[in-house]
Amino acid sequence: MPANSISVSDILRASVCPMQLYLAKSSPANFTEPLRYSVAKQLSYHLGEEFNREENREKIREELRLTIPECGQDAFSVLDEMIDACSKVTWRQALTYDMQVDSGKYNIHGRVDRVFDDSFSIIKGGKAPTHGVYASDRLQAVCYSICLEEMYGKEFYGRIEYLGSGTIRSVVLSPSDKRLFLTALKEVEKVRRGEVPRPVRGDKCKRCRFSENCTPLERPQTLLERLKKK
Ligand code: SF4
Repeated sequence: MPANSISVSDILRASVCPMQLYLAKSSPANFTEPLRYSVAKQLSYHLGEEFNREENREKIREELRLTIPECGQDAFSVLDEMIDACSKVTWRQALTYDMQVDSGKYNIHGRVDRVFDDSFSIIKGGKAPTHGVYASDRLQAVCYSICLEEMYGKEFYGRIEYLGSGTIRSVVLSPSDKRLFLTALKEVEKVRRGEVPRPVRGDKCKRCRFSENCTPLERPQTLLERLKKK
């Protein structure tokens, strides 16, 4: 994989707002994995196993203590809630987990949570939407399908597994999904070239951690100017 390969997470961020990606690239990394995601990930390694509720609950708690030493009752409550939701569904056991995938054609890479011989699953810690899947989850599925198809020369279909509600949703990709992928990819490439994107104002800004630094009314700085300031 080339050093300049684009991560799927950058593509997802650019699809929400290219300015977010631009600001993230010029800000110190300050990433904490959300608790629900950490718990869902740990539970996902056990999906499809013979499930003895009490034994598995204790085993996963132990694994959580190892992976997140500071975790406590909050994490265990989320785990109990997810185990309850997921026990109502029949899960397939994956062939492999956290598989590194890439596409030379599009110069992208990512890591797929659960891979099967004909398909893959993306794990989410939240609950499923009323219908279908969230737009960013769909885009993530497009990216992984492209990588897996290029790597193995056959089609892989994707599904999103929302462990918060114990829901499995298949993703049937359409041409418009591929177009959205290409648009987001272009935005990442522009940011990489140092172009300053236009901010996408709207509801997304309320949940954006860069809202205080996002000042589109001023002359936008180039990426080089931002880096020089440090
Ligand atoms: S505040 Fe809004 S426009 Fe600015 S980076 Fe965040 S989402 Fe984009």
